[in-house]
Amino acid sequence: MKIGLTGGIGSGKSTVARCWAELGACLIDTDAIARSLTLAQGAAMPAIAKEFGPQALDENGALDRAWMRQQAFAAPGANSDVKRRLEAILHPLIGALTQEQAMASTAAVIVFDVPLLVESGRWRQRVDKVLVVDCEPETQIARVIARNAWTREATLAVLQQQASRSQRRACADAVLYNEAVTPDELKQQVLTLARHWT
Ligand code: ATP
Repeated sequence: MKIGLTGGIGSGKSTVARCWAELGACLIDTDAIARSLTLAQGAAMPAIAKEFGPQALDENGALDRAWMRQQAFAAPGANSDVKRRLEAILHPLIGALTQEQAMASTAAVIVFDVPLLVESGRWRQRVDKVLVVDCEPETQIARVIARNAWTREATLAVLQQQASRSQRRACADAVLYNEAVTPDELKQQVLTLARHWT
């Protein structure tokens, strides 16, 4: 069974993904794949260099994430186009690699951690169930500021470009409300869902 796990930034996707892994699921992390594609020598780097020019690369030849974030989220009026052009390069490569990893797994449950599942559309057909991790926006902001040391403004800029809570809920087969719950309680919720679905 294939589960697409999604949620807004800082909602707790990775935390929920770890619970599934502890139950024996195979985890496929699309963010980790995206990062590997954009390291120096990463498979996406030639296309990125061609599309955005040398300023998109750091001194090692990897994607300059700070530059890209600046272009995508901070430059006035620039945002969605830069983001769309980067995603047009990355998404087909991520699709192929996730497929490859899923084919290589013998686990009964495969969990794809896909932050942009709702935004990118294609994922809905690739999975049997969509699991959304949800929490209050203020909780997302607090978690991201604590973890990434970003400013509130930078966090809000990312949050506002993502799908809304209602858009995610509309796609969900189940929603885990990761608000005021301990990691143990969250794990219990995942266990209940796993019993229900498998
Ligand atoms: P991102 O989209 O930024 O990758 P994410 O949705 O994967 O984030 P996590 O990394 O799982 O979210 O969680 C964000 C932060 O919040 C982490 O530091 C995590 O430890 C913490 N966190 C998540 N869930 C809880 C919880 N129920 N109680 C306390 N802290 C939590």
